[in-house]
Amino acid sequence: MIREARYWEPTEDGRVRCTLCPRDCRLRDGQAGFCSVRAAEGGRLVTRAWGRSTGFAVDPIEKKPLAHFRPGSKVLSFGTEGCNLGCQFCQNWNTSKARLGDEAAEDGFTPERVVALAREVGAPGIAFTYNDPVIWAEYAIDVARAAHTAGLFTVFVTAGYVTPAARAEIFPHMDAANVDLKAFTEEFYAHVTLGHLAPVLDTLEWLARATGVWVVVTNLLIPGLNDGVDETRALARWLVQHMGADVPLHLTGFHPDWRLRDRPPTPAGTLSAARAIARGEGLRHVYTGNVRDPEGQTTWCPGCGAAVIARDWHAVRSVALSGDACARCGTRIAGRFEARTVSSTTGARRRLGLPS
Ligand code: SF4
Repeated sequence: MIREARYWEPTEDGRVRCTLCPRDCRLRDGQAGFCSVRAAEGGRLVTRAWGRSTGFAVDPIEKKPLAHFRPGSKVLSFGTEGCNLGCQFCQNWNTSKARLGDEAAEDGFTPERVVALAREVGAPGIAFTYNDPVIWAEYAIDVARAAHTAGLFTVFVTAGYVTPAARAEIFPHMDAANVDLKAFTEEFYAHVTLGHLAPVLDTLEWLARATGVWVVVTNLLIPGLNDGVDETRALARWLVQHMGADVPLHLTGFHPDWRLRDRPPTPAGTLSAARAIARGEGLRHVYTGNVRDPEGQTTWCPGCGAAVIARDWHAVRSVALSGDACARCGTRIAGRFEARTVSSTTGARRRLGLPS
């Protein structure tokens, strides 16, 4: 399903410039961009990701992770191949590093078919995830349009490495976003992700100030690389100043993967200590992930300290909200809590729509 892409322009020297992400690929005919799914063909930029999927799963919304958005909901989740960052620690490298022709994905998933699949499995929303949907923005927008027409919500799970012009077209179609802030140093971005920190911070601030998208931030802590106390403190301080104290921060544990196998998994104690630091900087909702930690995964009322959404891993155990406020003291809890359900799901992933 090769389609002409949006977000490109011709260059004076006869190449095609992709304007979707800050990598700014300039391609000669036949060349693919860094992300592998966009290429120059016949003097134009094409996307080879439209209608493709590496597989569908029904995930709990808590797995995205999204702690303050329709807690307990199921969400139909899927992605394609490729990525516009080169993270050495990628936890989804089997699809993000796959190239067209590797047969990691299949074609034929029109927006209508994806929406029909969501309905079939009883999911009230669709998540663009597993690889960065920025690189398949045209397809994500088309699916999101169809989803909204059908009354489904949409979730965009991204690293936020996108140009201002493109993001202004993408995010009006999204109800919630999880932005993976890989670290808080330019050095880490340059050496470990092959990207830059500044455009990501710019996207985060823009999302918080200029859109109605419900935004949460994830920060994967890698021992010895981005888990320093000063870095966590600076990151949390920046979030409070530029996005507000209510933005949820998920501090998640690393496990050795892809090209970063010489580091140990993140100790649970590191995540708990980082959570305390971030809370100390004023963030109201800080969570731990990829470890067993009911205390660090529960939403606590900032007014009276009650457990308003008790969780264990990805499972919601109880909800004590009255509308969007603490049922005990009435303090408003930031988030989107409509259509709330309580689920005991453990996050088991099912592959749907593709042969197993
Ligand atoms: S989206 Fe892909 S082709 Fe476009 S600039 Fe980014 S990496 Fe290059």
